Amino acid sequence: MAAIDGLPPLRDVIRDHDLVARKQLGQNFLLDLNLTAKIARAAGNLSETDVLEIGPGPGGLTRGLLAEGARKVLAIEKDPRCIPALEEIAAHYPDRLQIIEGDALEVDVTAHLTPPYRIAANLPYNVGTELLVRWLTPAQWPPQWSTLTLMFQREVAERIVAQPGDRHYGRLAILSQWRATTQIVMSLPPEAFSPAPKVHSAVVRLTALPQPRFPADPGVLSRVVAAGFNQRRKMLRASLKGVAPDIEAKLEAAGIPPTERAERVSIESFCRLARIVAGDTP
Ligand code: SAM
Repeated sequence: MAAIDGLPPLRDVIRDHDLVARKQLGQNFLLDLNLTAKIARAAGNLSETDVLEIGPGPGGLTRGLLAEGARKVLAIEKDPRCIPALEEIAAHYPDRLQIIEGDALEVDVTAHLTPPYRIAANLPYNVGTELLVRWLTPAQWPPQWSTLTLMFQREVAERIVAQPGDRHYGRLAILSQWRATTQIVMSLPPEAFSPAPKVHSAVVRLTALPQPRFPADPGVLSRVVAAGFNQRRKMLRASLKGVAPDIEAKLEAAGIPPTERAERVSIESFCRLARIVAGDTP
């Protein structure tokens, strides 16, 4: 493993700090610093921005982000055992790494970062999707972040980039692609991690669009899409019955055959339907 920063190899860090991986914290560590530097590069030019990292663990990706020139990294880690290892990295990069011990679902990062910031993480599987949905549904758009560069289980990554008609197309694809561009930028086999998970992983990059691709009220769109995919095998005239009165006529006004299934409907059509349901001009 080539050194990227003069700090000890990650295997030594894990041994010295006794960081035996804990399944309940979704701990599958990346040990190859060349790989973590590659993920950091996929996050874009870091020199002018702050970076939020969730779940730094022993710090492989953190070191990649700092070596790639991140102005400042704010790292939130729930496992107290990892903090001393992260403090060694902070000492090596004075004033550039801030560590918060806590649950990423509860920490308010706004006071610590200058927007627009980037978010990069090898996410713990148990909270990954919930965090993504939160980042995609802020009170205001554009959001405080400019890009998300996130490692997920391969199947979750495929749900983010899926197109109408794809097996994985659903709420996550619509939520992601309505207001961001999405791309799988890297695929990783289980052996890239220690311990190796059962499934393949992939890094997805999402770049926030300045405004949504098509106008629609976020709440109404979310309601329509949730109902449509809740019973994805049903025709929309049945699955959307509870969403608004005269749903067949509204589907037709939106140019969607009432016999169509949600999995074949484009984001543009869902937005048109959401505008009609909200009583706006289509
Ligand atoms: N970034 C490291 C790497 O790439 O090797 C570790 C990634 S590991 C998949 C996920 C990390 O997230 C673990 O260090 C785990 O302790 C941490 N974690 C789990 N749940 C968390 C939460 N709710 N908030 C913050 N960190 C969490």
